[in-house]
Parts: sequence; C-alpha cells; structure tokens
Amino acid sequence: MRTFDKIGWVLSINNCGDFLMGGKKDNASESFFSLMSIAEYSLWEKIGLSRVPLSFSLELTSRCNNNCRHCYINRPAGDRDAKQKELCFEDIKDIVDEAVSMGALWCLVTGGEPLLREDFPDIYLYLKQKGLLVTLFTNATLINREHIKLFAKYPPRDVEVSVYGASRHTYEKVTRHPGSYFSFRQGLDHLLECGSRVRLKAMVLKSNYRDLPAIARFCRERTNGAFRFDPFLHLRVDGNQLRNAEIKAERLSANQIVALERSDPDRFKALNRECNMLVNTEFCHTSSNKLFFCGAGMSSFFVDCEGRFRLCSSLSHPDCTYDLRRGSLAEAWYKFTPAIRDMHSERTDYLENCGSCPIVNLCMWCPANAYLESGKFDLPVEYFCEVAHQRMVLIQGKEGLPDSREDEAPEGHASFQGNDKKLKTKEGVSAL
Ligand code: SF4
Ligand code: SF4
Repeated sequence: MRTFDKIGWVLSINNCGDFLMGGKKDNASESFFSLMSIAEYSLWEKIGLSRVPLSFSLELTSRCNNNCRHCYINRPAGDRDAKQKELCFEDIKDIVDEAVSMGALWCLVTGGEPLLREDFPDIYLYLKQKGLLVTLFTNATLINREHIKLFAKYPPRDVEVSVYGASRHTYEKVTRHPGSYFSFRQGLDHLLECGSRVRLKAMVLKSNYRDLPAIARFCRERTNGAFRFDPFLHLRVDGNQLRNAEIKAERLSANQIVALERSDPDRFKALNRECNMLVNTEFCHTSSNKLFFCGAGMSSFFVDCEGRFRLCSSLSHPDCTYDLRRGSLAEAWYKFTPAIRDMHSERTDYLENCGSCPIVNLCMWCPANAYLESGKFDLPVEYFCEVAHQRMVLIQGKEGLPDSREDEAPEGHASFQGNDKKLKTKEGVSAL
C-alpha cells in the first residue's frame, strides 16, 4: 500500500488500486477509511484535462470460446488466421513500456476472450510488474487454478464478468456454446472464492430480456448489490453483414429500453443527470462542423489485437486507426490523435441533425457508432434517434403506457435496487 499525506488527510492506494481516504491523520484508523473509486477522485479528472494517456485498453484477441448472438467481435477460438495476426508478447511489452513512459496508470485487458491466449499469465504479470492497475474483462468460462493463484498473489483491480443468463437455458441460448453455463458458474465461483473484486454486467438482448430480473438477482447476490446492464448492442467491427443482421434482430425496441430504464431507479437518476447537462452548448453551435465532442483520445486509447491504435474501441474506420507495428505510440498519441479529433463534416444534413441535436446527450450517436451503423461518420441513426427521443419523453414525465405487453419491463424488474451509476458512454463500456 502506498500512502500519501495531503493537508493533514491520509490518502492511500491499496494493492487493487483504490484510493482510500481517511480522517485527520492524528486519529486515522482503518475503520475511518472509505473506499472511493479512482475515477471519482478529482485528481484523476485534473490530470485527464492535460491530455495524458492515463488508461488504455489492450485487446488480446478477437477469438472467443463462446459464440454470442450479439457479439461485435468474436471469431472462433480455433481461428488460425486470427491467431496468427495477434500481437505477440514482445510487441505487447513494447506497447506497454511506451504507454507507461507516457503516463499510463491503468490497463483494461479485453478480447474476444483474453484467457484464450496461452501467454495470458505472462502478459498479466508484465502489466502488474510495470505497476499498472489492471482490469480484466472475461466471460469467466476459462478461469482455472493457475489464474486463481496468479490473481491471489497479484490482485487485479477488478474483473468484469458478463452474465448472459441466470439459467443454463438462457445463458446457452445467448452463447450458443453447450456446456458454457457450467464453466461460467465454476469460473465465477473460483473468482469470488479467491477474493477478486468481481463486477457483473449483463448485455440485454431479446434472447435474455425476460430473464433480466433473475439475472439481476443472480448478480446482486454475488456482488453486494452491484450490477449493471447494457441494452445497446454494437454492430460488428468487421462489418459482417450476416452477423449484423443477427445483432439487429436481437436489439430491444426503443420502448423496451426506456421501460427498463424507467423501472431502475438508479439508472433513471443517471439519465436525468445526463439530461441536466443538456443542451451541450459547444455541440449545438451550428457554426461548428466538428465531429468529435466526446472524450475519445483525451485520456485513454485502445489497441486492437493486431496492434492498431484507436481513439476508442468503437472507432474502427481504417482511416482512424494507426498501426503500432509500423510506428510509435508517441506518434499515434501526439500527432495522429489530434488530427482525428479535428475531423469535420461539411454535410448540411449533419449540421442540421446530429451536429446540432439538443438531445445528443441522451443518444448513442457518435462518429464511431454512426460509421458502424451506416458506413459514414456523419449520418443520424434511426434506431438511436428513436431511443433518444423516447428517453426525452420519459425524463419530461410524459411517457404514456407501453404500446404493448411486449414493451413492458419484464416482471420483477421494477424491484431493482440498482447500483448502476453509469449509462453507456459514447466511449463505450467504461471500466472506471
Ligand atoms: S463471451 Fe464475449 S467475446 Fe465471447 S462471444 Fe460472447 S460476447 Fe463475444
Ligand atoms: S441520431 Fe438523432 S437523436 Fe441522436 S444525435 Fe443524431 S439527430 Fe440527435
């Protein structure tokens, strides 16, 4: 544990990377300490404003042992071509070294399923040796004793596990992988037993929508009440048309999404907070034709499994990626990123729609998602538009009864005592 003494207050960082704040140092004791997430600490925000790459996501593979219906990335576990193109351990070390030398403190390890990499323990250990806080995204099905020993000795800051169903039937309806529910339960139990801080989240799709109350219960029982859900299904980064059609077929309707949000008190509060920030005056200035108003590339970046730097995980347009195998992270961050953030659109229909939209804070629209949906950075997305307008109606308290039984939140959902303090941000899933 590292301890700092600041103006008579005790501030420490524990092994998992949490800031612990205590009372005045003369009477400081463990019992006075309260846990505070790093993102909530104002120093993090202040450093963020100076455009330092504080955190980064490292996608170790696009392969996965599951085959989820809604997945925006997965390729089969045994896909040789995909495996061959993955960054090797040495490449990863170079990227990590440079990231740390530029100020990185936090690394999110993701996939596909990162535990499919045989060298996962070496990569993980290297990140820890570099002093990074490490968050791991995993489906937990491959967690074994070796991982548990590793995490017990060198704890991750947290492990975020996706829960696709609370029963074998629902879980495997989503993952399309027989036996995956059993492996998931076993892996999750191991993680919980070894004391790792586990966060549980659910992607909500038509295939598991009716089971959401059971999924929420399952999660809350294991995480002291913490659980978050996300009903926004991203389209594929590889643009696969068949898979995209499948994803669209699994999306909830705008009414269903809003019904879920209405029935979850904390999520509803978060929605209101977003609404209070409306109108984003900078964004709604019609004389500005800028595309990026989010935080992409301001304090974090993403590296895909083939070594391509992106400002965020969703911004996959080839013109917006930088090949780290041929260049340096410093060049990607200091030269390439500002040029991307400076992109403009001259289209009148952009300036008249998303470019000056008064409810953009309630919308999933951003140049990255617009590109995934339409092949263009600057077109509105009908589905997003519908959800954003429904949310506005909800916040203004004008919502009527759901159009049909289909649109109602699943029974039991209204009893959620959510701890979900976050909406999906325009930079994608936030691990902070
Ligand atoms: S477990 Fe995750 S990475 Fe694997 S297929 Fe499902 S959503 Fe995709
Ligand atoms: S998609 Fe619609 S609601 Fe969303 S920003 Fe564009 S115009 Fe606004």
